[in-house]
Parts: sequence; C-alpha cells; structure tokens
Amino acid sequence: MSLLATRKSTSYLVVHCTATPEGKDFTAADIDRMHRQRGFTMIGYHYIIRLDGRVEPGRPENAVGAHVEGHNANSVGISYIGGVDAKGKAKDTRTAAQKSAMVRLLKELRIRYPNTKILGHRDFSPDLNGNGKVDPNERIKECPCFDAIPEYAAL
Ligand SMILES: [Zn+2]
Repeated sequence: MSLLATRKSTSYLVVHCTATPEGKDFTAADIDRMHRQRGFTMIGYHYIIRLDGRVEPGRPENAVGAHVEGHNANSVGISYIGGVDAKGKAKDTRTAAQKSAMVRLLKELRIRYPNTKILGHRDFSPDLNGNGKVDPNERIKECPCFDAIPEYAAL
C-alpha cells in the first residue's frame, strides 16, 4: 500500500518558499531529504523551482501533499528555493528566472486544474478580525514572502 493518498479534488495552487537562505542553490532532492528528516513520507511540495528557473518534480502531482495545514487534500504545492536572507529573516529572494518559471508552471497547472485559486501559503492564515483578508499581523508565517494574490491575479 502506498503511503501517499491520491488527491480527489483540487481547489488551490499554493505558492511557497523553502525558507532557505538567499542565493543557496538547493534542489528538490535536498528539500526531500530535509522533509524526510522532519518525518514526512517524502518532500511535501509537488514542485520546486530552482534559482536558475529549473522546475523539479517533488511529490507526484496527483498525491495529497504536505505543505499547507488543512488544505493538503485539495491543493497543489509549488515552492521556489529561497525566501530568507542570510540571517534567516523573511525576504522575497526570487530570481527573474524563478519568477518567470513560476508563471509558466502556474499557467500549465491551471490548464489541468481549471477554476483553482492561486494563493500564497500565508493567505491560509486565519482572518482573525473578520475583515475578509489576512492582514500582515494575522499571518502565521510569511511564506512565500511576497503577495501572491495580486502577483497572479491576471493568470
Ligand atoms: Zn509555505
């Protein structure tokens, strides 16, 4: 029996950062190792985007991921390598190649999963004051360290 359940519905494409230091060229294999060390079956994301824009597969695309609490059963997780500065502070470290690769990948996924919403991980934080959006002070974490909603609104 496989430990990876097949995903039955897909409502969200969730954008992440790996929270690895700016400029360090980690691979999907590195992230896989880190996630297994944390006790995951395998890498939690479905795709990794390297510094040079290469897209590497992570978890099989049709499997339930491990990247966003409460929504793993209905989302695909995509992470760019980076997201913190040398001191570990949240920072949008995306390279130009990563930005364009992310747009290409999201467009491709949208063809396979029409009607999905593209959100950043932090957009799943609880809206504590009920004003209809996640304010900066309500974010559980900064991931992916940029505002994914306006960034991909035109896709
Ligand atoms: Zn995340």
